[in-house]
Amino acid sequence: CGSSSNVSEAGRTMIVGSTGFIGRFVAEASLDSGRPTYLLVRPGPASPSKTFIINSLQEKGAIIIHGSIDDRDLMEKVLKEHKIEVVISAVGGERISDQLILVEAIKAVGTVKRFIPSEFGHDIDRADPEEPGLTMYRGKREVRRCIEGAGIPYTYICCNSIAAWPYHDNTHPADVLPPLDRFKIYGDGTVKAYFVAGSDIGKFTIKTIDDHRTINKSLHFRPSSNWLNMNELASLWEEKIGRTLPRVTVSEDDLLAAARAMIIPQSVVAALTHDIFIRGCQVNYSMEKPTDVESVSSSKEAAIIVPNAPKPEAMAITA
Ligand code: NDP
Repeated sequence: CGSSSNVSEAGRTMIVGSTGFIGRFVAEASLDSGRPTYLLVRPGPASPSKTFIINSLQEKGAIIIHGSIDDRDLMEKVLKEHKIEVVISAVGGERISDQLILVEAIKAVGTVKRFIPSEFGHDIDRADPEEPGLTMYRGKREVRRCIEGAGIPYTYICCNSIAAWPYHDNTHPADVLPPLDRFKIYGDGTVKAYFVAGSDIGKFTIKTIDDHRTINKSLHFRPSSNWLNMNELASLWEEKIGRTLPRVTVSEDDLLAAARAMIIPQSVVAALTHDIFIRGCQVNYSMEKPTDVESVSSSKEAAIIVPNAPKPEAMAITA
């Protein structure tokens, strides 16, 4: 990734939220890269599935630390004792503001070389979804301003959509099969989005740490080979299953009604679905800010480039 002059000495990495959907991809990528990887795990009884995740990450070499990021004294102690140089947070939408306390601890300790807050979606300073999505974005924006005010080196990961069928009424865009009975198509199905495999989100997040060009930048994942609208996505799935399925329109009003129902977290998903597939929030801006950088890959080796540089072949998603 880049030339050796771009490689920082940062090593010991603490990941928050490794039992979660996005955090697990990041933890796996960190361990695969050979970095000393510490996982902050909340104390208390864990479900069998979370216990399984923790055990499997431990088998790969992860070091488990128990604690919560809303315990400032503990966070300072942990960062100092383990000489943590990189902190990556993937806490869920409902715990975004807990990170404000973590930021205070990082600032007080003063030795963290990079902080990646829990974003993993859109550029939240650009996108303005309907409520309740907006409230979540306001929480993420507050964390950004706090990091910038504290002078902590950061990277904001704007990875766009996870590579999965974009159900608007799910609690979570986890590994659910695409439809087998009928497609629900948002609007006219022509608004494009970027779909990125979870494993690539993890891999590129870890690559970021060692690239000085991403310090204090927003890193956008925009693989042109995975830039698709819903009609195209449906056709790809039809090719795979060898049959066609009926298509039903979910209108803008339907999505807004689902958002207004204020059933959390489904209404957040509906509001973001509206922003992506009706308003085009992933594609309605250009990368013109000096703080924008874009991730692409050159053959199989991931690289990170600045906008306007000649683009190697776009990152191919393997999901
Ligand atoms: P999850 O809810 O799946 O997981 C959250 C994780 O954070 C869990 O491991 C949880 O631990 C941990 N956690 C929560 N609070 C604390 C705390 N105070 N201290 C320590 N650990 C804590 O989160 P997601 O993976 O869904 O979300 C992560 C980020 O990714 C969010 O910013 C979200 O908006 C974004 N996202 C983006 C998607 C996309 O398509 N681009 C899809 C999904 C999420 P515990 O096990 O104890 O609960």
